[in-house]
Amino acid sequence: MSKEWLQVKDLRKHFETPKGDLRAVAGVSLKVEKGDSFGLVGESGCGKSTLIRTVLRLLEPTSGEILFDGKDIAKLGKTHIRRLRKKMGLVFQSPHSSLNPRMTVYDTLARPLLIHGITKNKRDTTIEIVKLLKLMGLQAEHMIRYPHELSGGQKQRIAIARALAVNPEIVFLDEPTSALDVSVQTKILKLLDFAKQEKQLTYFYISHDINLIRVVSNKMGVMYLGKIVEIGDTGTVMANPLHPYSVGLFEAVPDPDPDKKLPELILKGEVPSPVNAPSGCVFHPRCPFAWEKCEREEPKLLKQSDQREVACHKYS
Ligand code: SF4
Repeated sequence: MSKEWLQVKDLRKHFETPKGDLRAVAGVSLKVEKGDSFGLVGESGCGKSTLIRTVLRLLEPTSGEILFDGKDIAKLGKTHIRRLRKKMGLVFQSPHSSLNPRMTVYDTLARPLLIHGITKNKRDTTIEIVKLLKLMGLQAEHMIRYPHELSGGQKQRIAIARALAVNPEIVFLDEPTSALDVSVQTKILKLLDFAKQEKQLTYFYISHDINLIRVVSNKMGVMYLGKIVEIGDTGTVMANPLHPYSVGLFEAVPDPDPDKKLPELILKGEVPSPVNAPSGCVFHPRCPFAWEKCEREEPKLLKQSDQREVACHKYS
């Protein structure tokens, strides 16, 4: 099997709006290897949620390839997509809205087990549910509860258990802890890490929280206005970001290491609209290093070392 087990090539997702073409995902290429914990960071509205929904084919791609386990998801028919989706889980940001308030924990977890034929009868379903609850640090008695009887952290544990019920190979986690208290966030991250080891999972996190991505990922990408501007090993990118946007983004967040100093770079202005995005390098209106070429020519994501690729004319 290829090391690049999930590979996205020049993926685009555009939406037509009354104001023009909204390029939410504007030519993204990335690779995730089995066992990775990949983290995609970017400000809200940069296209990260649209990207994972397009990879999962919850949204139809405008163009590009999504290779998973040797198949191009972008070209699969509905029946094959359903089969493939069993291998790909998704955990949403808000456990409050992702759980059906009229379903008990038992019903919420039994549904995917029965639909995907993991269990065939009530006894086996109950045994599987107890295992899932235990994996998430909950007790068997939680299965008779409704969402309103659970805390925010317990609800998110159920949402994760639901994603894990079908034994996926990769789980996409869309800001999985941002709706929770800080003390609960740490517990959820520990449980996710435990489940990853137990079930040999691959994770694909997306978040605006740089410190979360720093802690949970071994590989990461930085996204700006529908494009990946820097991608590589988390340690390398975090220790010494090269793309001017990465530098400005990381600098705005206090580093847990007080001795670490990043080069000073204050980002100018606001993120432009993805409708009729800037020409050339989409970051040029905000970049202090921009020159004439940046307005004219789009920089390609180029390899800087074995650990990192950057899309910036300064490094091409
Ligand atoms: Fe700045 Fe130019 Fe690099 Fe874009 S390509 S980040 S505008 S220097």
